[in-house]
Amino acid sequence: MSTLSDLRPTARLRQIDLVKQAGIDVSDWKYFRGGARHAAANPKYCYEWVFVEPKEFVLLNLWHDMFEEEKHGGIVVNLNSREWAKRVIGVQKHRATKGDEAFQLAVKDKLPIRVIVITGRQRTRPTEKASHVEARLLDPVSWRITKYDWETGECTITRGEEKFMDQFSIPDDTGGKPKRRVVSGTSFVRDPVVRANVLIRAQGKCEWCREMGFKMVDGRIYLETHHVVSLSKNGPDTVKNVAALCPNHHREAHHGETRNKMRKILLKTLANIYRQ
Ligand SMILES: [Zn+2]
Ligand SMILES: [Zn+2]
Repeated sequence: MSTLSDLRPTARLRQIDLVKQAGIDVSDWKYFRGGARHAAANPKYCYEWVFVEPKEFVLLNLWHDMFEEEKHGGIVVNLNSREWAKRVIGVQKHRATKGDEAFQLAVKDKLPIRVIVITGRQRTRPTEKASHVEARLLDPVSWRITKYDWETGECTITRGEEKFMDQFSIPDDTGGKPKRRVVSGTSFVRDPVVRANVLIRAQGKCEWCREMGFKMVDGRIYLETHHVVSLSKNGPDTVKNVAALCPNHHREAHHGETRNKMRKILLKTLANIYRQ
């Protein structure tokens, strides 16, 4: 069984129970004309697909059909609520806008994402009938936003906690985040998804010496991501040009007397990984 099929819900659980199970207070649900007995059907909440627990987490309903399995077994969902909001009206528009706002909050406050996985009939175009949910489950594993485009609202959500990190994930690192490194108007934007995929590929081991990176205070494994052909020399920001290296070999790849040889070997190593 793959993770993807394990995650397919089979039981017709109620949204109210899963929202409560996730740790959100649902005592308000009973305040509508149906009263406590019909709290689960409170239209103010039961059709919502995003719930925000400020400073804690964001809870989302995600269609199982939208899950994409990656090469390394990871699961991601790509969606754009802002775009959807432009295409629909009324309460749909309101919900989609709220969704996009929740993503922004999650990015700003680095909030984890909890996911209620749903199956059923999904509305994919504004003109279609309303969606109908057939089964639900609350994923016990946390997700996180790994890509958010502030210009377009394009969003990538990835299942699981981050196990590995690099120099750009440490906010106070003296190297600084790329956005701070503005040199005469030029800054190199590194795709966080590429970095994340390289770190997953390396599984904590330096791709030069094969030694494990060191364990950080929070338990994650540290390696540095390195553009084999540097961005300043128009090296592409893709997994085929980025290696995960231990700090020592990363410095050597930049300043060592053998750096040219290292570059050639690293390029060969990466090419081998992606050769069909
Ligand atoms: Zn190394
Ligand atoms: Zn480097």
